[in-house]
Amino acid sequence: MAIQKHDNLINGQWVAGAHYAPNINPSNIADVIGDYTQADAAQLDAAVKAAQAALPAWSTGNIQARADALDKIGTEILARREELGTLLAREEGKTLPEGIGEVSRAGNIFKFFAGECLRLSGEIVPSVRSGVSVEITREPVGVIGLITPWNFPIAIPAWKTAPALAYGNCVVLKPADLVPGCAWALAEIISRSGIPAGVFNLVMGRGSVIGDPLVNHPGINAISFTGSQGVGNRIAQQCAANLKKVQLEMGGKNPQVILDDADLAQAVELSVQSAFFSTGQRCTAASRLIVTDGIYPKFLGAMKQRMAGLKIGDALGAGIDIGPVSSRAQLEQDLSYVEIGKAEGGLLVAGGERLKLSAEGFYLAPALLTDTTAAMRINREEVFGPVASIIRVKGYEEALREANNTPYGLSSGIATTSLKYASHFKRHSQAGMVMVNLPTAGVDYHVPFGGRKGSSYGSREQGRYAHEFFTTVKTTYIAS
Ligand code: NAP
Repeated sequence: MAIQKHDNLINGQWVAGAHYAPNINPSNIADVIGDYTQADAAQLDAAVKAAQAALPAWSTGNIQARADALDKIGTEILARREELGTLLAREEGKTLPEGIGEVSRAGNIFKFFAGECLRLSGEIVPSVRSGVSVEITREPVGVIGLITPWNFPIAIPAWKTAPALAYGNCVVLKPADLVPGCAWALAEIISRSGIPAGVFNLVMGRGSVIGDPLVNHPGINAISFTGSQGVGNRIAQQCAANLKKVQLEMGGKNPQVILDDADLAQAVELSVQSAFFSTGQRCTAASRLIVTDGIYPKFLGAMKQRMAGLKIGDALGAGIDIGPVSSRAQLEQDLSYVEIGKAEGGLLVAGGERLKLSAEGFYLAPALLTDTTAAMRINREEVFGPVASIIRVKGYEEALREANNTPYGLSSGIATTSLKYASHFKRHSQAGMVMVNLPTAGVDYHVPFGGRKGSSYGSREQGRYAHEFFTTVKTTYIAS
């Protein structure tokens, strides 16, 4: 069967780029999902100009029409969740239930922001001067560049695009080159939603080729980025130099604390889910398991037993717990961190080796290292794969100290039956999101998402807090 070609969406037209690149299934590298075009700087420029031209009408247009279009997009995504979830599992390597879950999240996000189109409000406040009134309103920021990573190929494009459009902005979306399929499918749905040409543009291609032209384009008013700290840092500096608004969501080195009084079965289950589900490729994954002395032997034994029962295989296979790593480069990075952890003195007690299954894919047995300390690279740097390490501590105070002993601050979790420790941890954890007896990953779509320290920069994403980034405030004085 001929491989289908997929083009960029610019000003309502499907446009071929300089060349095409294949989208490969990491569960079976012989399976090519499709060919996806690669834009150059000139095409990027055309997309930004189309968005600029569409902005005046869209930003002042009828909000009921906006809400209807977003609702229609959400409805179609939800109706096609199995099909799109299959595409997602095929291109990224999440298991099918995880893929369907992510697609459902994307659909619900569009429906949430359909409602937000009608809920944006301002304030009227009395002036300190007689005969004057003051209005505070929120307006669109303008044309927004959205740059997304490979690990959530539909949810992250959705959670940036939906609020951007809801609040009246126009968009140029650059998805990760590794997984363009879901972003293309989203663009195709948006192209039939009634949203005018140029309001939403999709430009696929490599960050190293079109990243700088997008971030530095004078027609781009703001950048919302999710990805690694290195690229985020560079974008922040470029935006500062051009005085552009910027929002960055970056990596994590999230701690999962297990206290002596934890429910053992629950602690093991949430640790396995946090560390290894979605192949550990979640910014909110727990890669540091911080375990107190009293429960340590029982916890380690139960973890090894649970990990031995995990089924690793083709993301679309029935009953599979963990799919492949998303790419060869990421697999090599994961394996190299297992070696780094061992060389630093860590003990590999489970997994950590490449698995050969019937089809050639990027399979890795989830790895667990013990005898690690906070100073080791394995506990300071983001691996971004199914690799976790245990830090053994004496009690709660040391556990909290180690949990916060990281340059990152995205998500954190504690397993305990003590209200006292749960409350203290909630208050003193230096993370943007805290989980009590829940996995560090797995969040709602209608509340703010984001972190502290080196994990995030700028205002929060998602929920109604998204308006802080996607709108700008105007204060108007009126003589009465
Ligand atoms: P990445 O390498 O930083 O890439 C992210 C995006 O930036 C991709 O679209 C990439 O394009 C693009 N890019 C690369 N170079 C660029 C440049 N010079 N200018 C502008 N854009 C450029 O990250 P990733 O490997 O895709 O994703 C994994 C990272 O994302 C992890 O660190 C993870 O923790 C983080 N993440 C964070 C969150 C959160 O909400 N905090 C959520 C998910 C993931 P190409 O891929 O096409 O080169």
